Amino acid sequence: MGNYKFANIVINRPIEGPFTYSIPESLKEDLEIGSIVEVSFGSKTVTGYVVGLSDKCDIEKIKPINSIIDKTLRIDSGMLELTKWISRYYYSSWGEAISAAIPGVLKKGVSVKRHKKEKHDEVSEEFEFIDGSDTHLTPNPEQQQALDSIINSMSGRLHKVFLLHGVTGSGKTEVYLQSIAYALELGFSSIILVPEISLTPQTVARFKARFGDKIAVLHSRLLGSKRVSEWKRISSGEARIIIGARSAIFAPVKDLGLVVVDEEHETSYKQEDVPRYNARDVAIKRAELSNAVVILGSATPSLESFHAAKNGKFTIIELSERIDSRLLPAVDIVDMREEMTRAKKIPIFSQKLKEWIGKDIAEKKQVILFLNRRGFSTFINCRKCGYVIKCKRCSVTLTYHFDKKKLACHHCNFTMAPPEICPECNASYMKYWGLGTEKVESEAHRLFPAAIIERMDSDATRKRGSHDKALSRFKDGQIDILIGTQMIAKGLDFPKVTLVGVISADTALNLPDFRSAERTFNLLTQVAGRAGRSDLGGRVIIQSYTPQHYSIQAAKTHDYNAFYDKEISLRKELYLPPFCHMVALTLRGRKEERVFKASDSLRASLEKENKSKNIEILGPAPSPISKMKGMYRWAIFLRSENAENITSILKKALRENKTSGIIITVDVDPS
Ligand SMILES: [Zn+2]
Ligand SMILES: [Zn+2]
Repeated sequence: MGNYKFANIVINRPIEGPFTYSIPESLKEDLEIGSIVEVSFGSKTVTGYVVGLSDKCDIEKIKPINSIIDKTLRIDSGMLELTKWISRYYYSSWGEAISAAIPGVLKKGVSVKRHKKEKHDEVSEEFEFIDGSDTHLTPNPEQQQALDSIINSMSGRLHKVFLLHGVTGSGKTEVYLQSIAYALELGFSSIILVPEISLTPQTVARFKARFGDKIAVLHSRLLGSKRVSEWKRISSGEARIIIGARSAIFAPVKDLGLVVVDEEHETSYKQEDVPRYNARDVAIKRAELSNAVVILGSATPSLESFHAAKNGKFTIIELSERIDSRLLPAVDIVDMREEMTRAKKIPIFSQKLKEWIGKDIAEKKQVILFLNRRGFSTFINCRKCGYVIKCKRCSVTLTYHFDKKKLACHHCNFTMAPPEICPECNASYMKYWGLGTEKVESEAHRLFPAAIIERMDSDATRKRGSHDKALSRFKDGQIDILIGTQMIAKGLDFPKVTLVGVISADTALNLPDFRSAERTFNLLTQVAGRAGRSDLGGRVIIQSYTPQHYSIQAAKTHDYNAFYDKEISLRKELYLPPFCHMVALTLRGRKEERVFKASDSLRASLEKENKSKNIEILGPAPSPISKMKGMYRWAIFLRSENAENITSILKKALRENKTSGIIITVDVDPS
């Protein structure tokens, strides 16, 4: 670069910038736009990103750049543009957005916790138990048509978003694989996003088998240094196909031609820290900036994506046939209200589920039981005065864990011994209620004493490798009944599973969330997809106290369109996404009074700026979990026709409402 004297630098802090630094003589040769540098900021040394160079500077006291962190690494102009967009759309600083896009080891001043985690996470070549067997399939006419349009857009360098809607087993992965192969032929790189890499071992194995060395797998267990070396392999063009979770969308590939987002509806694409981006939407933006093609794949597309496809924004490709023409499993819904009347208590297993489990394990077939709730009992109360044991730091009930004989908070990990007498009235009538996976496991042992039963949830698999081991044993037929949370709902393909039992379909449905019906339908469809993946056939039994709900009924008939039609009309009626752009603001603080005051004042600022009244302001109101980790939480929701209406007003209001002790988080397109 040579001649510039000053550099504009952004940093990983919630401050906009850029800040000007002088370029020392020794760095002039190597410093470029995109360089990752070390600078002093206040009393600290932080990582900075060079976003501009200049000859002039009006500031008198100017600090020099300390050093360039790695001369071989540079953020390219495309990535600078993308991160700039992210910072604008998701209300972070540019530096924070860049920081999310590069490997952690290059960042100074990241929290100690994160460093620690990286140290403990060793590189493992997991998925050993999975044979990478891969057969090239000849596309059926439906798939060929899909491929033709994808290839056409790619070779014409035409940015286009395809929504590949296909039931489980319709060959979506084969369409991905062949599209990637064409991209490679055309000289393009591809990025494949999967929801959670450790939960999709079979998919990864298939990609590896087909493309070998050209693949780079990015997952959270990669050690910092290994992550950097993979980054270099990608930016040098050696790796042309990148597969990974959310943050793989920032892989520094050359000549991006194709981005695949598998299971595009998954909530794990949404990042919970700043910047709170959705990797699917970032993928679409990145592809747009590089004239690349996007394939969004799902059996249960998000309402947003399917709506966009119906309106012609995306191109829809329907894969309606299963490759092997195998029928989808039969789904039975059991009305648990009737079961309760009959059994005169709250049963865990319905008569029907019990019978089918007994029959299938007697025939040496395998059973999966699903419940999306950990622990043994989900709350305890006093039978005399009704007092409910809650977390001291969070406004939630404590869950009883039988394994550890402890009550635990699932939000802050607070634990305590369960009290034998009521802390409120001293009566000794503490009653355990609610149902978690541990209780299902214990009941299954009681009912089927001869069966080999394993539980898989984040409590049971905390030990490294135990997750893979359990799956491996299940695959080998060493386990009769596998019980688990959503950890077992995804992607797994076990041919001997003939029965899937959903212990309660109502857990997600009762959450105070406008997406609860969508979540329920997705989860039931996904879990049901684990049954009947071979000639042995399959059956799904769904237990529910609200069996007539449309999300459950649509899951029974495997009818996405029926679900979509009902749900989209409700969203329209209630003016919810995709009919509006939504931003959720959460204010947190240790003093409830101050949180409320700050919320009220933020609302007033927004109101004042909202002159054209094109933003609807809802709240402030206490968040569904009104206290978490000792912090009180209030929320304000903004809704408008489009994002731009909100941007300038919100930015101004946020600037005016900086209160010490109050943390405001901005969540765009909350999920
Ligand atoms: Zn009591
Ligand atoms: Zn808690």
